[in-house]
Amino acid sequence: MNHAINDRKAIYPENKKRLLQEQLINQMVLMWGGLSLIGITLTNIRALEIGWTTRDFIQTVVVIGILCICLNRHKLSTYFKANILVTVNIIIGVIGAYTLGMLAASVFFFPMGAIILALLYSKRSVIIFAVLSVAFYCFIAVSFSLHYLQLSTRADLLISNQAHWGVYILAYTFFFVISCVTIFNYRRTMEQLIIKVDQQREMLEESNAILEAKSRELMRVNKQLALMANSDALTGISNRRHMDDHLNNEWQRAIRNHSSISFILMDIDCFKQYNDSYGHPQGDECLKKVARALNEQVNRSTDLVARYGGEEFAIILCDTDNAEFVAEKCRQAIEQLKIPHDFSNVENVISISVGLFTYHPENGSTPGFIFDRADKALYKAKMSGKNKVCVFKD
Ligand code: GH3
Ligand code: MG
Ligand code: MG
Repeated sequence: MNHAINDRKAIYPENKKRLLQEQLINQMVLMWGGLSLIGITLTNIRALEIGWTTRDFIQTVVVIGILCICLNRHKLSTYFKANILVTVNIIIGVIGAYTLGMLAASVFFFPMGAIILALLYSKRSVIIFAVLSVAFYCFIAVSFSLHYLQLSTRADLLISNQAHWGVYILAYTFFFVISCVTIFNYRRTMEQLIIKVDQQREMLEESNAILEAKSRELMRVNKQLALMANSDALTGISNRRHMDDHLNNEWQRAIRNHSSISFILMDIDCFKQYNDSYGHPQGDECLKKVARALNEQVNRSTDLVARYGGEEFAIILCDTDNAEFVAEKCRQAIEQLKIPHDFSNVENVISISVGLFTYHPENGSTPGFIFDRADKALYKAKMSGKNKVCVFKD
C-alpha cells in the first residue's frame, strides 16, 4: 500500500493534499496541547517545590504559547502552525542536548521535527535538517569529550532526580503514542482517498467510454441530417438550399480565380397538363426520372444539379467553356427518356425548356445576378416554342 501511495501521489488533487496536511497539523497541535497541559502542570508543581528558575519561566511561556496556538488552530495557516511545531521541537531539542539531563528529549524532538518536515516540506529541506542535526550531535559529542561543555548543576540535579526521569519518559511515551496514532490516521485517510479516487477514475473512464460512443453516434446522425437537409426528398438530388450554398461558395472562388460560372435553369414543359392527365403519383415518377437523367449529364465535382422548385431544375457549371453544349445535352437527354406526354403542346413526350447564362463574377456582384439572367433566357425559351435552349446575351 505504501508503494501505491507513492505511485498515486501525483493524481491527488492539490486541495485534497492540503486538506490532509491541515488535518495532520491540527492533530499535531492538539497533541502538543495535551502534552503542554501535562508539561505546565509538572513544571509549576516542580517550581513550587524547589523554587522558580528562568528555565521554568521559559517553559511556562512556551507551553502557554502552544496552548494559544491550540485554541486558534482553525484561524492560523497550516504552514504557520507547522513552522511553530518544528521550531518548538528544535528549541526543546537544543535545550535538551545542552542540559544533557534532557538528552533524551533532543533524541526524540529532533526526529519529531524531521517527521513534520518530511510530511509537509520538500525532500531537500529534510536532508538539510538531517545533516544539520547530525552535525549538531557531533558538535555536542566533541564539546563534551574535549570538556568545552560540562554538566550544569541544574542538569546534574535533573539526572539525579529519578522522579523527573519518570516524568520525561512518561511524557515522551505519550507523545510518541499520539504521534504514531496521528501518522497512522493520516495514512489511513490517504489509503481511503486512494480507493475513492480509483473508484471515481473507473467511473469516469466508464462514462467517458459511453460518452465517446454517444458522440460517435451523434456524429453519424449529424452527417445523415446534413445530407438530408441538403437533398430533395422526392428526387434525392440536391435541393435549393444546397444549391444556394454551393453557388455562393463557387461565386467567391470564381471572383478570386477570375473564372466563369454558368447557370442552367430548366423547366418541364406543360407539366401541369401531365399532372392533370396522368395523376400526381405519375408526375412524381416523371420528376424522379428527369432528375436522374440530368444528374448523369455532369461529372465534375464542382458541378451541381439541383431541384430548384416544383418541376424546375438547375445546374451550376464552374469554369466551363461549353456550357451551351451541356445545356443542349440535358435537353436531349430528357427528350430521349421518351416519357409519353400526349397532352403536351410541344411534343408527345416530356421535354424541357432551358435558360443559360455564363458570367465572370466581379467583386461586389451577387449570385442573384446570374439567376435573373438565366431566368430571362428560360422565359425566352418558353415564349419561343419550348423544348429549346436559350442563352442570355447582354
Ligand atoms: P410551362 O410549360 O409553361 O412550364 O407550364 P407548366 O404546366 O409546366 O407550368 P406550371 O408552373 O403552370 O405548372 C407546374 C406544375 O408542376 C404544377 C404542379 O402541379 C406541378 N408540380 C410542382 N411540384 C410537383 C411535385 O412535387 N410533384 C408533382 N407531381 N407535380 C408537381
Ligand atoms: Mg414552372
Ligand atoms: Mg413547367
